[in-house]
Amino acid sequence: MPTLDPIVDLLSQVRRCRICAPHLEPRPVVQLSATARVLIIGQAPGARVHASGVPWDDASGERLRDWTGIGASDFYDPAKVSLVPMGFCYPGTGDSGDLPPRPECAPLWHGRLLALLPPDRLTVLVGQYAQARYLPGKAPLTARVRAGGSAGVFPLPHPSWRVQGWMAKHPWFAAETLPALRSAVAARLFAADG
Ligand code: SF4
Repeated sequence: MPTLDPIVDLLSQVRRCRICAPHLEPRPVVQLSATARVLIIGQAPGARVHASGVPWDDASGERLRDWTGIGASDFYDPAKVSLVPMGFCYPGTGDSGDLPPRPECAPLWHGRLLALLPPDRLTVLVGQYAQARYLPGKAPLTARVRAGGSAGVFPLPHPSWRVQGWMAKHPWFAAETLPALRSAVAARLFAADG
């Protein structure tokens, strides 16, 4: 039954979504609210998140919280942070790790969900799939991350264990990108508290 809250209604529809049932076990993992001024668009849940139903409930999430400077209590507060992956359900694994997010998901849901978020939000684009959808043109991930955030959008590599080698090769990321990211995030979270 519809409520008077469009986000509650839309999230209810998302949670009933079975479009990708031929390809995976649907269990959408999304966190969202109309007041969250930090939006993190990730890739897709991994096996651990699929089991727990808690977004970023894994080592990648710990690294992302460290990168952004967002403590767990703020990170899991939908009033402050929206967590919207490119694919809401765990896509399963292939020969070289987790499969890509299902291509049906973002075109089906993102437009309607993101339209309900604050327009002055900071959008953090985690990984190549989010950046391919939300940044213009084509560019290697490293070039996009190096270019840094602008117009309220911050591209990041995916914080999986593989990123450690990438960070060793690109020390500017820890020295310059992460402090700028933390500053931008704190400005949004602080303003949200005010
Ligand atoms: S991945 Fe997205 S489109 Fe596919 S079943 Fe899950 S919620 Fe629906």
